[in-house]
Amino acid sequence: MTFDNLRLVAPILEALKSEGYLRPTPIQARAIPIILKGADLLGCAQTGTGKTAAFAVPLLQMLAEDKNMKKETPAIKTLVLTPTRELALQIGESFTRYGKNTRLRHTVIFGGVSQKAQTDALRRGVHILIATPGRLLDLIDQKYVDLKGIEHFVLDEADRMLDMGFIRDVKKIIAGLPKKRQTLFFSATMPAEISRLADTILTKPEKVAVTPVSSTVDSIEQAVYFVDKVNKKHLLLHLLKDPAIVTALVFTRTKHVADRVARDLVRAGIRAEAIHGNKSQNARQRALNNFKERRTRVLVATDIAARGLDVEELSHVINYDLPNVPETYVHRIGRTGRAGLSGTAFSFCDGDEKTCLSDIHKLIARKITVIDNHPFRVHETRSMRNPDDAVSAVAGKKPLLKSGNSSARNRYAGFRHAER
Ligand code: AMP
Repeated sequence: MTFDNLRLVAPILEALKSEGYLRPTPIQARAIPIILKGADLLGCAQTGTGKTAAFAVPLLQMLAEDKNMKKETPAIKTLVLTPTRELALQIGESFTRYGKNTRLRHTVIFGGVSQKAQTDALRRGVHILIATPGRLLDLIDQKYVDLKGIEHFVLDEADRMLDMGFIRDVKKIIAGLPKKRQTLFFSATMPAEISRLADTILTKPEKVAVTPVSSTVDSIEQAVYFVDKVNKKHLLLHLLKDPAIVTALVFTRTKHVADRVARDLVRAGIRAEAIHGNKSQNARQRALNNFKERRTRVLVATDIAARGLDVEELSHVINYDLPNVPETYVHRIGRTGRAGLSGTAFSFCDGDEKTCLSDIHKLIARKITVIDNHPFRVHETRSMRNPDDAVSAVAGKKPLLKSGNSSARNRYAGFRHAER
C-alpha cells in the first residue's frame, strides 16, 4: 500500500513525499478512504499511530476540492476539537505541513494566552479551526467564532476530554454544530460515557481500531528496575551516565515530584526541565521546544502535560513512577519507537508499586524484563519479581481482558468488535 493507492491529489501527495512518508500507517490506510467518501468514523488509535494525518490529509483534500471555496473571506468548514494546547499546536503544525501546497487556511486557538492573535486570525478568515474546548466556547460567546458552516467535525482524544473534565464543554459545542455534518471521533479507550457520546453524535460510523492500547509496540525494548523509592533519583542519575540515552522523557505521577527530579538532574549537571499543568503555557512551550531541539536532554513530565507530546526520534522513556492505570503505561512508552524507529522504555518499581506492575503485565500480556545488575538493586521477594503468577502463563498471548482487570475490560468492550 502506498499513498498513491489512496486517491490523493497531487498537492497533498507531494507534501507527504516531502515529509519523507513512504507509505501510509495502518490507521491512515484504513481511515483515509472512509473519510474521503464522507462517512462518519469511530477511530480507536493512540498518539504515535499517525492518526493526525489520518484525518488531516482527507479533510484537506475534501476542502481543496470543494468548488464553493473561492469566496474572498474563508468561512470555517472544519472544526478539530482537542483537549490540550500542545495537541492543538501539533495538529496545527500537521495541517501546515500536509496542506502546504493548498490555499487552505487554518488557525489554532487555546486558552492560557492572550486571545488577540487568535481573534485577529479568525477575523482574517480560516477554513479549518483547531481548538481546545474552553477557549472555543469563550470565543463563540464573544461572537468571534460562528460554527453554523461546519461540515466536518473531528473530536480528538475523547477519553482524555473526559479525564480532564471537559466533557460538558464538548457537549455544549457539539449542540451548536449543524446536524448535517461529517463527524470523526477518536479515542484511545472507550469508557462507558465516551461510548454513549459516540453513539449520540455519530451516524452509521465505520469503525477502525489500530494498535489497541493493550499491545505495546514491538520495536520498544522494555525493562524494569526494582528499586527503593529513596534510591530512584540515584538510579536515574546512574542510568543517565550512559551516552546512549540521547533524549529521555521521564514520567512522574505528580507535579511536585516532576519538579524535584528536574531540579536533582540539573544539580548533577544534566540538562533537564519539567513540564506540568502548574507551569504557564509559555513555560511549557519553551520547555517542549528546548527538548525537541535537544537543548535539554531530559524532559520530566506528568501524564496530562505529556499527552500528545510528539517528539521525533525520542530514544528513551523512563517511568520514574509507575502509573496506577495500566493503559497509561502503554501511552507513555508509545512516545518512543515512533513510526517504526526503535526505542527503549525503563520503569522503576518500588515496593508500593508491585500492583501497578502486575496490572501492566496483565494488560500487555507479557512480562517486562527485570534488570538485576544495577547498584541500587533491592532484594526483591518472589512476589515482587513476578507479582502476578498468572502473567507468566499468558505471556505472548492476547491481552488478558477476560479476567481480573474489570476497568480495562470495560474500556475495551466498545472496541472489541471494531478491530479488523
Ligand atoms: P500522530 O499519531 O499523528 O501523533 O503521528 C505520530 C508521528 O508519526 C508524527 O511524528 C508524524 O509525523 C509521523 N507520521 C505520521 N504518518 C506517517 C507516515 N505515513 N510515515 C512516517 N511517519 C509518519
